Amino acid sequence: MDNPTILVVEDEPSIAEVVSLYLQRSGYAVTVLNDGAAALEWLSAHKASLVVLDLMLPNVDGLEITRWLRSHSDTPIIMLTARREETDRILGLEMGADDYVVKPFSPRELVSRVRAVPRRTGGSGGVEEKRLSFEDMTIDPITRLVVIQDEEITLTAREFDLLWWMARHPRQVFNRDQLLDQVWGISEYIDPSTVTVHIRRLREKLESDPSNPRHIQTVWGVGYKFEP
Ligand code: CA
Repeated sequence: MDNPTILVVEDEPSIAEVVSLYLQRSGYAVTVLNDGAAALEWLSAHKASLVVLDLMLPNVDGLEITRWLRSHSDTPIIMLTARREETDRILGLEMGADDYVVKPFSPRELVSRVRAVPRRTGGSGGVEEKRLSFEDMTIDPITRLVVIQDEEITLTAREFDLLWWMARHPRQVFNRDQLLDQVWGISEYIDPSTVTVHIRRLREKLESDPSNPRHIQTVWGVGYKFEP
């Protein structure tokens, strides 16, 4: 993956062109598509290192693509949204998009977001990158896999980051704003219910009884904690 391919899905030619130009100048290979159906077709045959995704697209919209992509892979997604599309933006994040930029945006800002996403998902090694093992669960920050009783569980980038943060601070209670700050890093723009959605998805993937979780516990009136 020396020259990872970023898929840009955007039907506005001038935006697609400038985004593609800036990403190429930053050293990325870029594939541009201007139609949602074509994007789904491309994604079912290729693997992108990251998808820059406009929400309003002909034929199949960005939310539909996000939903499809999340059920097939953990490829990072950055949404391009118009200011009035706030509801869709929140929906997209709840479906597992990693980040978004609001139009009009500076191409430089987009490039820096693109750089930030693989840092989160790449697991480049470091002091904190030691695997965590609990009685029935191992969390590996390098492979970003969770293993429960020999079964590998695949999490989205954000689900993993949330679990990783909480598991590294066992029994410490965090409220939703604190988790947004630590895991999303942009709490002022995101609806705190995004955290609730991610907690629910983690429980569904990791807990044998999601309604009576053993690890990811609710502390009523306060927030959440990881119980080893
Ligand atoms: Ca559009």
